[in-house]
Amino acid sequence: MTAHGLTSSFIARDEQWGAHNYHPLPVVIAEAEGASVTDVDGTRYLDFLSGYSALNFGHRHPALIAAAHEQLDRLTLTSRAFHNDQFGAFCEELATLTGTEMVLTMNTGAEAVESAIKVARKWAYEVKGVASDSAEIIVASNNFHGRTTTIVSFSDDSAAHDNYGPFTPGFVTVPFGDLDAVRAAVGPNTAAILMEPIQGEAGVVVPPDGFFAGVRALCDEQDVLLISDEVQAGLARTGTIFALDHEKVRADLYTLGKALGGGIIPVSAVVGRADVLGVLKPGQHGSTFGGYPVACAVGRAVVDLLSTGEFQQRSTELGAYLHERLNGLVGKGVAEVRGKGLWAGVDIDPAARTGREVSLSLRDQGVLCKETHERTLRMAPPLVITRDEIDHAVDALAEAVNA
Ligand SMILES: *Cc1c(COP(=O)(O)O)cnc(C)c1O
Repeated sequence: MTAHGLTSSFIARDEQWGAHNYHPLPVVIAEAEGASVTDVDGTRYLDFLSGYSALNFGHRHPALIAAAHEQLDRLTLTSRAFHNDQFGAFCEELATLTGTEMVLTMNTGAEAVESAIKVARKWAYEVKGVASDSAEIIVASNNFHGRTTTIVSFSDDSAAHDNYGPFTPGFVTVPFGDLDAVRAAVGPNTAAILMEPIQGEAGVVVPPDGFFAGVRALCDEQDVLLISDEVQAGLARTGTIFALDHEKVRADLYTLGKALGGGIIPVSAVVGRADVLGVLKPGQHGSTFGGYPVACAVGRAVVDLLSTGEFQQRSTELGAYLHERLNGLVGKGVAEVRGKGLWAGVDIDPAARTGREVSLSLRDQGVLCKETHERTLRMAPPLVITRDEIDHAVDALAEAVNA
């Protein structure tokens, strides 16, 4: 388990000079292609994390790299003070792909969520008629929506939240998947319900069937916006454009990020109803880089890849295979498996090993994966993964949990 060769000198420098806000696995990656990465000592690994779904199309997908290169050679940044020839096309193509009416471009996932919160509050005051400064947004327990001060204000993960106060008020937390609790929390000041369709960071937690259909009905009845945070779950990860599509439910706003930038640059967006995003008028919100030409060119190439349905189909079919194989480990060092498509939360039997020990053992067997919390492993391979590679990873996991 000790770092070898060049690896240890790189890690020592990271630890001396980089802020310690992460605890990475001891592997130093230097190159990557498709579903595999190579470290500084020349060892190859299968990537079973995919940059938390930012690499849905694999590392350096040729169509995405080509789009980025072409744009870099032509125009990089204009700021939104001027129009550019990529912005409108990206917005139109993303809206068409997602069946939505309008697109607000940002950079990171957290910025998309922040933007959705601002829009929902503004909509509540200007359209719904909520008294000023009293809008409420209902969120779920164990949520993860990013790291800004407002977003961590409603996180119940103490590591993400503690000692960052004073916190932003206006959020009401209910247990994820509990429709009665959501109903009880809705009041005249409720602007929106903001939730992940499947909770990623919490360990790939799928809500009970019918939960979001119930939330949707409640939103319609009470004039409340439904905001689906699809930054990690969206864009084919679960086999559909939006994870909420599995519930046959439409949100009023969706947040997208991670895979929207093709694993090349940060690109995020809020997409949804034009009458809701339409509350933003010139000067009321913005971003220097949001919707810059390179982002739009890469985003357009991502939309293009998603428009064939190939990646959705791979996620559905190979995801069924992954889950079948993982379910075969339940009772053999694995306590529970959750998820949809090529996305799985694997709870390690507490009597077996910790998530960190399992991650280290997987690394030694050539598979990169990361624990979330103490004993859950999150598996999210790039959607270009093959059946044989899934077999290799699950065989390695069987070995890792039982060693
Ligand atoms: C990762 C994530 C975010 C934050 O995205 P960043 O790009 O890291 O700011 C927000 N919401 C969800 C559901 C996420 O998984």
